[in-house]
Amino acid sequence: SLGLGVRERFFQNEYLDPQLDPSLREIGNVRAAIVVLTRNSDLTEILRTMKQFEGRWNRRYNYPYVFLNDGEFSQRFKDKTSAATRAKTFYGTIPQEMWSYPSWINQTKAAEVRAQMAKDQIIYGDSESYRHMCRFYSGFFFHHPLLKKYDYYWRVEPGVKYNCDINYDPFAFMQKYKIKYGFTLSLMEYRSTIATLWDTVRDFIDEYPNLINPNNFTRWISDDDLDNYNLCHFWSNFEIGDLNFWRSEAYTKFFDYLDKSGGFFYERWGDAPVHSIAAALFLEKSDVHFFNDIAYRHEPFEHCPPEPRYRGNCQCNVSENFDMHWYSCTRKWFEI
Ligand code: GDP
Ligand code: MN
Repeated sequence: SLGLGVRERFFQNEYLDPQLDPSLREIGNVRAAIVVLTRNSDLTEILRTMKQFEGRWNRRYNYPYVFLNDGEFSQRFKDKTSAATRAKTFYGTIPQEMWSYPSWINQTKAAEVRAQMAKDQIIYGDSESYRHMCRFYSGFFFHHPLLKKYDYYWRVEPGVKYNCDINYDPFAFMQKYKIKYGFTLSLMEYRSTIATLWDTVRDFIDEYPNLINPNNFTRWISDDDLDNYNLCHFWSNFEIGDLNFWRSEAYTKFFDYLDKSGGFFYERWGDAPVHSIAAALFLEKSDVHFFNDIAYRHEPFEHCPPEPRYRGNCQCNVSENFDMHWYSCTRKWFEI
């Protein structure tokens, strides 16, 4: 296991800083992939994102891309995206059982919920595909056959922006320092999408107390000793993570428990609060890394590093940096 000394050498202001470890700039060979869930209709946006992502980072590291889709990728999509990188590209259809209703879901009830959420104007409240997407990212992507051979993943979405150069291998960083989960943006969830999520989590904790990490960081997600969820979560459209964490027994039991309760369909549980609550229960804070040095934008929010040492060839405006906004949970991350 990792000697504390190894980590300590690369701390700056109590922050584990990948920029201080020159070995991470070498061309890495981590078993890792860039994971992109998209539709054919996202082609223009994913090409725009890939162009920047390659230029800012991957053209030096050439990690493979795994494109996933609930439908078939078109030849045009495959041709254009494979031409946008020197790295290998893989294209997978999602197996039916990872993108459909489990047997215990009452689909009439689910449709009624969608109709009501449409009336209440809850974002994506009326969308069936959005729910399958959230459930897929919560419970299945790490079991997709194309991801079997990898240990780490970087989630990328069509349209996101990487506005500063990244001059090291974040996968090598994750592996060397045994980091399980990395984020750039955090914020608060819409309560109306997860009305019973927290009650379900508390039932899970009562049922499986031994799975909870004694050094957990639930102080980040609850301000009153687990009575209530404070809605804080990592924004999961950016994730650099350890696939084996999601494949672990604790997380498997957790996802199955949530899935059985039906909240992915009877409410509109997002993969972001699900991942974040799991991280807070099963990991410790030092297993999670804030990638302060990675500039990242997913509309309408942006992480733009204010620290001069991170502003390598940046095209982002520090005044747009979301970290200390009242709606961000990153201030609280530093407080705990
Ligand atoms: P938002 O970020 O919460 O607004 O959700 P997005 O619309 O960006 O969806 C999240 C990710 O899932 C993106 O990578 C989308 O391309 C992808 N996605 C969403 N819905 C579908 C779908 O029905 N099929 C496929 N193949 N991808 C989807
Ligand atoms: Mn998105």
